[in-house]
Amino acid sequence: MSNARYDCIILGGGAAGLFAASMLVKLTKGNSKILVIDGNDRCGKKLAMTGSGRCNLSNKEASAGKYHTDCPELLDACLKAFGSDDAIDFFENELGIVTVCDNGLYYPSTYRAQTVIDSFRFFLDESGVDMRLGSRCVKIAGDNGAYELTLKDGSVFSSANLIVASGGSTYPSTGSDGTGMTLLKGLVDPKDIVGFKPALTSLTSRMQGIKALAGIRCKGSVMLSDGSANLDSSEGEIIFSKEGGISGICVMDISGKAVRLLDKGGKPVVYVDLIGRTVEQTVEMLELRRRKFGSRQIASALSGMMPRVLCEFVCRLSGIDPSDSMGQLSDKDISLFASNICAMKIPIDGYGGNDKAQVASGGVKLSAMNSDMQYRRRKGLYIIGEALNVDGRCGGYNLQWAWSSAAAAAKGVAENV
Ligand SMILES: Cc1cc2nc3c(=O)[nH]c(=O)nc-3n(C[C@H](O)[C@H](O)[C@H](O)COP(=O)(O)OP(=O)(O)OC[C@H]3O[C@@H](n4cnc5c(N)ncnc54)[C@H](O)[C@@H]3O)c2cc1C
Repeated sequence: MSNARYDCIILGGGAAGLFAASMLVKLTKGNSKILVIDGNDRCGKKLAMTGSGRCNLSNKEASAGKYHTDCPELLDACLKAFGSDDAIDFFENELGIVTVCDNGLYYPSTYRAQTVIDSFRFFLDESGVDMRLGSRCVKIAGDNGAYELTLKDGSVFSSANLIVASGGSTYPSTGSDGTGMTLLKGLVDPKDIVGFKPALTSLTSRMQGIKALAGIRCKGSVMLSDGSANLDSSEGEIIFSKEGGISGICVMDISGKAVRLLDKGGKPVVYVDLIGRTVEQTVEMLELRRRKFGSRQIASALSGMMPRVLCEFVCRLSGIDPSDSMGQLSDKDISLFASNICAMKIPIDGYGGNDKAQVASGGVKLSAMNSDMQYRRRKGLYIIGEALNVDGRCGGYNLQWAWSSAAAAAKGVAENV
């Protein structure tokens, strides 16, 4: 079969791979021979799903604190070297994408992920970048500065520089099924790999009666604990799921650490603030309703504060009979009820798996990389995007990581060709 030689092969035509190819074209002024390989018949299958098809490209607040990684220092340096302003500048001025910023979150002005994919596609086509689609890579061989990739259809391609942009392990139907890590096995020291786990996912609980809350939404905050220490927290909309448990953006933000704790045999607990007020303020709100609506049943007295089913759930957690009248509540009842709304303790027993999680935590350790995302032990081997052990919160941070890491690798490769 063919053995074509390239200056750079990029394995993975997702967000990071497409950006790396485009940036490399720019940095080498179109004078490098680049090949992008993707197992799908079209590029950017996962990118098409981002932001519910609207593609939340980046976030003004992108900084190391918004991510989990083993090497915050290198992450910080990479985001400072090429941050959200640089990414937006590239989209606007190189790819021709008009962007908008909604409360710090960037989108294409069309609010269509397809706009971004098409712009990459047109740019790369016109720049003479070769695309090999529809056949998965099954083997990577070689070493320092000479890599050979074999595809399922038997074709072989070689290059001095290889950028692995094979993504994580979630939504495997998009082609990002974690096999990129298997291909890297002979090249990357196993000590430098953290196994993939779902992150940005929902959390489930077998807490008695929790399924009855399915569909309830409230604005508040969540705090993850291992039973003794606060591990992570976030705020926003909380949604009770039909599986029994919680989801919503703030829950997804803390889920990565909950997943790892559960899988290590720990017992994660989430404290949910369902009302976004302090306990004192909540006590005052309850006392006011006791004074004004004392003769009503508790759920009716509190109907302006929370849905009946949630009120009844909190009553039971607090040892209060929901059929009592509001006026029957003692100060102690009110204080306990308030604590349970402001910090409802939900023991976590499970999580949404790879088919539900938006990103994977894990991948090749960032601490094993140079600042240009070149693996320290192999000259010419670059790893970027979700294939690295970096996962961000919801809000455009994961795509920004794809752009920032891709820009770093493109710069590194451009210095080599
Ligand atoms: C539903 C959903 C919504 C999301 N929304 C957002 C959002 O709005 N904002 C945000 O910042 N992030 C979002 N994300 C996360 C974001 O999509 C990812 O972090 C990002 O796509 C990672 O880019 P990547 O290039 O590293 O990997 P991917 O985009 O996953 O690309 C990897 C590519 O490698 C290819 N590949 C893998 N192995 C092989 C192989 N052996 N041979 C050939 N090809 C291979 C795959 O086919 C795939 O195309 C979302 C994710 C999901 C699932």
